[in-house]
Amino acid sequence: MRTVEEHQRVVAALITRRAPVSVPIADALGMVLADDVIAPSSLPGFDNSAMDGYAVLADDVAAATPEHPVRLPVAEDIPAGRTDVLTLKPGTAHRIMTGAMLPAGATAVVPVEATNAATDTVEICASAKDGQHIRCAGEDVTAGTPVLRAGQVVTPAALGLVAALGLVELSVIPRQRVLVMSTGTELIAPGTPLAPGQIYESNAVMLAAALRDAGADVVAATMSGDDVDSFRDALARHTADTDLIITTGGVSAGAYEVVKDALGGTVDFVKVAMQPGMPQGSGTVDDIPIITLPGNPVSALVSFEVFIRSPLRTAMGLPTPDRPRHTAVLTEDLTSPRGKRQFRRGVLDADAGTVTSYGPPASHHLRWLASANCLLEIAEDVDALSAGAQVQVWDLT
Ligand code: AMP
Ligand code: MG
Repeated sequence: MRTVEEHQRVVAALITRRAPVSVPIADALGMVLADDVIAPSSLPGFDNSAMDGYAVLADDVAAATPEHPVRLPVAEDIPAGRTDVLTLKPGTAHRIMTGAMLPAGATAVVPVEATNAATDTVEICASAKDGQHIRCAGEDVTAGTPVLRAGQVVTPAALGLVAALGLVELSVIPRQRVLVMSTGTELIAPGTPLAPGQIYESNAVMLAAALRDAGADVVAATMSGDDVDSFRDALARHTADTDLIITTGGVSAGAYEVVKDALGGTVDFVKVAMQPGMPQGSGTVDDIPIITLPGNPVSALVSFEVFIRSPLRTAMGLPTPDRPRHTAVLTEDLTSPRGKRQFRRGVLDADAGTVTSYGPPASHHLRWLASANCLLEIAEDVDALSAGAQVQVWDLT
């Protein structure tokens, strides 16, 4: 049997980074920058007012007080967005709004609250320091400087910055495009009545969600019955523009193991010393990497967590590929099969630093997985743990 680490290495070697692409900025959210972003222009692009008020020469209002206001004729009205370039003559004021371009010659803005707000002749009731309430060109960003670095994840704020700089595209490491194909003649889509012996398909929707949550694109999440021809046809229909295929089911020791039967030539089917998730496979189909997961829903999702999520995020350049791992104190006695790495579903109380297993170890108990917040990892050489033991958990939140 392969160890967990051996199979992790095999899977990681299959998943490779795509070449950088340019995408419209709005599509880049959550992706990783392939290049530094150099500011093509400065921010602010021009000196502008930080307040609604009056642009003045500070010297003209040096003597202004509430008792003895300085009266200045209002020569211009400058709303934000006015595009003609104005000059302030000494002895006058321009009414100006926040974000509007400062007239040449003005050295300060007096907030409207320190005036009588008039539009013909304004009474200014306070003096102003030179530069007061003026946002200077380039004080945020100087043209030509790097504002974002290669390797940074594009966040909403990063998008705001690049939009403010007038960029329309960003060079990013593209998402991995993944096809999810579950197998099983017993599976039908939710929304259709079940015949006896049928079950609703759940792996494809679950893994597609896990993939998107990990930052990947899902090419299709679909299913095939357990006959080799229809499985091959279903794969062929969906593999255009696919970087990775994930299948579930059809890899264990029974008859009708469709994935094994169809892909025996190019996929290596192995047993990994873990529970759940022992039957695994990896290889290629038409040069596309494929990872074949077991069909039990808990096995499928735990296998995704253990083998796929981290290398997939690494291939997308994401800075935190791994789930956070913590050590927590076990609240109960547990047993585990010797010789296998066990991943139990657990509830981690981060404040108390404790963890409690959640639900039975068997691999079809989806209900418990759905409300667990961690995986509890028990080493191969451990077959019993007592309450109070320190255990390793993978934080799934
Ligand atoms: P298999 O690995 O194909 O032998 O499937 C193991 C178990 O998981 C069986 O009980 C299947 O019915 C169940 N199973 C397989 N695939 C799915 C799926 N996509 N959704 C829900 N259950 C599944
Ligand atoms: Mg099956």
